[in-house]
Amino acid sequence: MKITTVEAIPLAIPYRRPFTFASGKVTAADHVLVRITTDDGLVGHGEAPPRPYTYGETAASIVAAVRDLFSPVLVGADPFARERIRADLARTVANNAARGAIDVALWDLVGQACGQPVHVLLGHAADDVRVAHMIGLGTPAEMVADAVEMSDEYGVDAFKVKVGRDLGHDLVAVRELRRELGDAVELYADANRGWDADTAIVAARRLDDLAVTMLEEPNPADDVLGRRRIVRESPIPIVGDESTITLGGVARSLLDGDSQSISVKVARTGFTDSAKIVGLCEGLGVTTMVGNQIDGMLGSVASTALGCGLRALAHHPVEVTNHLLMTDDVIAEPPVIAEGRAAARQAPGLGVTIDPDKLAHYRVDR
Ligand SMILES: [Mg+2]
Repeated sequence: MKITTVEAIPLAIPYRRPFTFASGKVTAADHVLVRITTDDGLVGHGEAPPRPYTYGETAASIVAAVRDLFSPVLVGADPFARERIRADLARTVANNAARGAIDVALWDLVGQACGQPVHVLLGHAADDVRVAHMIGLGTPAEMVADAVEMSDEYGVDAFKVKVGRDLGHDLVAVRELRRELGDAVELYADANRGWDADTAIVAARRLDDLAVTMLEEPNPADDVLGRRRIVRESPIPIVGDESTITLGGVARSLLDGDSQSISVKVARTGFTDSAKIVGLCEGLGVTTMVGNQIDGMLGSVASTALGCGLRALAHHPVEVTNHLLMTDDVIAEPPVIAEGRAAARQAPGLGVTIDPDKLAHYRVDR
């Protein structure tokens, strides 16, 4: 099997409402669909969400990177030779979302060629996983309404709360969430580097009082001594996310004492490097969890496959609900969340098909 074409198709799909966090805001899914076709007619898909405030990529830069840098390496290659392809792609630095989507599309192809779903190829740790919903910044009433809807309609009982603005305001919101949702739900927090070290240390103690279990990226990890002081003084574990986006970066962060737990995302490390990061962390006794890059439906399907594939990830709720913000998507079968869980698809590869009419409607390159 040989790759014949690699396409990067920019999309624009409206959201029901904006999603806001300490480092940015999204109002529409301006994701890039990566489509890889082979000489035996198989087609693999991946989704690249541009996050300029985190990785510097835009939809235009992802399209250009796939077209000009990665496609020439991929065309003619065998999708099964993922280690060789990985090494060839690594000659270009950064471009994490573009690279992640390509890796996801390659696994989709391999799964289809083998007649096996991706989570089975990864190791089939579980058939379904508990999900966590990510609550964006808003007024306390808006944040509570979002959580209550997810709890009532989808049975979700784990929430990642965006924080990282004025601490007083954040604490009011978290307190309201805890009061409204009760003690049984899991709450953890993500500041997206919004605080300085002094604020983050106070925040970690107050969040611990509200039974918040973890704090993600409290300050910029480049504030080296500040971050280490937070890790030393925080009563709850500090999670690395946007500061830990490569295998070496994860190793450095853990060994330097910059983080104690790692969020892994298919949107930036695909399946291949996500699995390597999870293995590294497992060997060090560090917990990992599946994070959400405000993924669309395809990204959520891939994240669910990752969570179901690897035992270390199946333990923690997997963040796969943010596609519910979208008014529509290009995949024909939307992901299902029921009773607080998401199931891996049983069809070969990722088990998704693209709706040609929706793709024609939402693509912005024609
Ligand atoms: Mg995060």
